[in-house]
Amino acid sequence: MKFHSTRDTAKVGFDSAVVIKQGLAADGGLFVPDSIPTLTEAEIAELRGADYAARAAAILGKFLTDYTAEELLADCRAAYAESSFVGGAAPLVDLDGTVHALELWHGPTAAFKDMALQIMPRLLSRALQKTGETRTALILVATSGDTGKAALEGYRDIPGVQMQVFYPVDGVSRVQKLQMATQLGENVSVCAIRGNFDDAQNGVKRIFADRAAAEKLNERGYFLSSANSINWGRLAPQIAYYVSAWLDLLNAGKLAEGECFNVCVPTGNFGNIFAAYLAKRMGVPIGRLICASNRNNILTDFLSTGTYDRNRAFYTTMSPSMDILISSNLERLLYFTAGAETTAAYMKLLNETGAYTVSDEVKAAIDADFCGYFADEEATAATIRALWDDKHYLCDTHTAVGLSSAKQYIAETGDNRPMVVASTASPYKFAADVLASLGHDVPADQLDALDALTSLTGVEIPYPLKGLAERKVRFTSVCSPADMLDEVYGQLK
Ligand SMILES: *Cc1c(COP(=O)(O)O)cnc(C)c1O
Repeated sequence: MKFHSTRDTAKVGFDSAVVIKQGLAADGGLFVPDSIPTLTEAEIAELRGADYAARAAAILGKFLTDYTAEELLADCRAAYAESSFVGGAAPLVDLDGTVHALELWHGPTAAFKDMALQIMPRLLSRALQKTGETRTALILVATSGDTGKAALEGYRDIPGVQMQVFYPVDGVSRVQKLQMATQLGENVSVCAIRGNFDDAQNGVKRIFADRAAAEKLNERGYFLSSANSINWGRLAPQIAYYVSAWLDLLNAGKLAEGECFNVCVPTGNFGNIFAAYLAKRMGVPIGRLICASNRNNILTDFLSTGTYDRNRAFYTTMSPSMDILISSNLERLLYFTAGAETTAAYMKLLNETGAYTVSDEVKAAIDADFCGYFADEEATAATIRALWDDKHYLCDTHTAVGLSSAKQYIAETGDNRPMVVASTASPYKFAADVLASLGHDVPADQLDALDALTSLTGVEIPYPLKGLAERKVRFTSVCSPADMLDEVYGQLK
């Protein structure tokens, strides 16, 4: 399988190892596979009896054909080990006979980013070998919270890789800050920035664009790489859990062969829901793909009108990982529905004017699979509370946006086929907002909200968030955005 850029009409092909190492295509587009592989009847029958790691390795093998089956299985076994995903990698919890929560947050940082960031570093490490790379990959990450911790945990002590994370000093929660400051691993470093998330992100972009820096790093035996969600190495592992959810529904007798189910995904950058779309194209019988947004409902508007317009107010919500106005992975859907030439034209318009409108044909193609709903802050809180009161199921703020949207869809359409809602974070990752949603006072110190929530509900705090206050703080440096490059040089071995 070869990969090409979403903006390249000539479809110049690259191997998956190169694509994972490089991240973004040279023309600014995103890498997509030349074709979408399908699952055979025999493969489906075999995967029904397989565990999560074997399922994931089989799906990855369809795309990463320059990796051997043994390599992928070994990496998936290590990534999704029971010791790291306590309670299973992607368990499906039946909430009411129709709606099921696909819990993707049992990994080492308690958010779904672990599903990709536990495996991708291993794929990158092999990519370095496969491409004969002798330099060390230096991964720079600017984070507003979840991605930074998941990346640190995924890349820690991975051979051939070093990582530097920057976060806004006052822009992340106390839990998130402590999670990062206490990170273990000899090849990782964390630095706070005096500024906001944009300052951190712009600083990283500046370093990536700095030719002199690239030359200096090269002389020292390093090259820059990134871990963000537009890398194919992060997207491919996400397809696996939608396949796995289908097989679990079949095995549980909730679905007969050939019967469809629906999928609803709380969406930010459009990566997670795009993985579900690819699962559908691979042959998983998914009916509707429901795109769930918070108050930043630019995708809901796009799916209903065909116009994507980021010239609008930006809101800070209690589901911060979905506070996004540019959903980068949407470009991949445009590619598969409109082709490279039109995608490049839409992206140019987005760049220049902040908006584009898709043609009627493209809109119809998207409508065939997707619909969009959103939940504002009130609906999100009400969903958390109702689910706890009625079912004693505790969910986080992002998952609540998904569950609210799924409920709206079912009420509006009467479509009550089984519904899989992606549950993207542990409720304890956003304990203060969950506690408030349940109608309780939030303690002054955010860390105390975890204890308050567990005493209130009896639901256990997941292991990555236990005893955070007692862990040893390793990283305390704070720098100004202008000094970020010096901070990077300071980390070179
Ligand atoms: C990143 C994230 C999302 C959004 O996922 P996308 O792939 O960006 O659409 C939703 N929920 C949580 C908890 C996240 O961390």
